Amino acid sequence: MGRELPSGITNWLEDSPLCSRFSHAQIDTSGIPLNARLIGYMSAHTWNFPSNIISLLPSLQHIPLAGSGIDSFTWRPSSTGKYSLKHTIEALALPAPPAPWYQLVWNSLSIPRHRVILWLAVLNKLPTLDSQSMAYKHILNHCTLCLFSGESLNHIFFSCSFTAPIWSHLQNTCGFYTRSQWNDFIFWASHHWSSKSIANAINKLALSASLYHIWVERNSRIFQDISSNQNTVLLKITNSIRERLLPLSLKDGVAARRARQAWDLPSSFIRPPPRPPDEPPLQP
Ligand SMILES: [Zn+2]
Repeated sequence: MGRELPSGITNWLEDSPLCSRFSHAQIDTSGIPLNARLIGYMSAHTWNFPSNIISLLPSLQHIPLAGSGIDSFTWRPSSTGKYSLKHTIEALALPAPPAPWYQLVWNSLSIPRHRVILWLAVLNKLPTLDSQSMAYKHILNHCTLCLFSGESLNHIFFSCSFTAPIWSHLQNTCGFYTRSQWNDFIFWASHHWSSKSIANAINKLALSASLYHIWVERNSRIFQDISSNQNTVLLKITNSIRERLLPLSLKDGVAARRARQAWDLPSSFIRPPPRPPDEPPLQP
């Protein structure tokens, strides 16, 4: 209730002070100083505001009186009244629908560090050499994976001779086909993989794992002068996907069987059907 709060200038009355409800002339007439303490207008069971104030705002009398406890701070954005960074950010953030690609990136099956690379790529924020060479003239723009072309998101993921067999293998395994432009592909995937089917979840997992390991291979060549061949990169991608799928146990169905076959998963990947209830014993 804020018993010790100044009654005239503190937001205790439905988020506004008394001085915003009345003119200064009305407050002067009431005899309430702006800095008077709220407790001065409380008795045991009711409020004791001046009659001219009550006549202008009768609802004041119906505000429930708190108990005799001492004042304490309440953090309004939080339902518990206690400070919480999460609730504060939610209160400050402008309400907006999630981005169309939100589930493509931030889904529960994809590996967290893979999601970050996909997120940067979706935002066109991966520091590819085409953008770097424009900002820094001493940086040469050439793809360290194939050594034949400039490096860009579109090149790495759609026209690079090093990554092409990797993408081709994954597309055949997952059953989807990429587009020739990165932004077109993300737009397409965001809409076509929006349902929460296991096939879509695996597609997202495979996409983020592929981007991650291709990007790691690219960085390894640039910063450590260490390179792996396509089969090794593809094996890392496949192992990442399998490791994520191995602990799962799905209900039997066409999609689950297809995924089990495609990623060479054990029989535990598919849950056995529940046993029927025991039949009653036959009567003699
Ligand atoms: Zn290339």
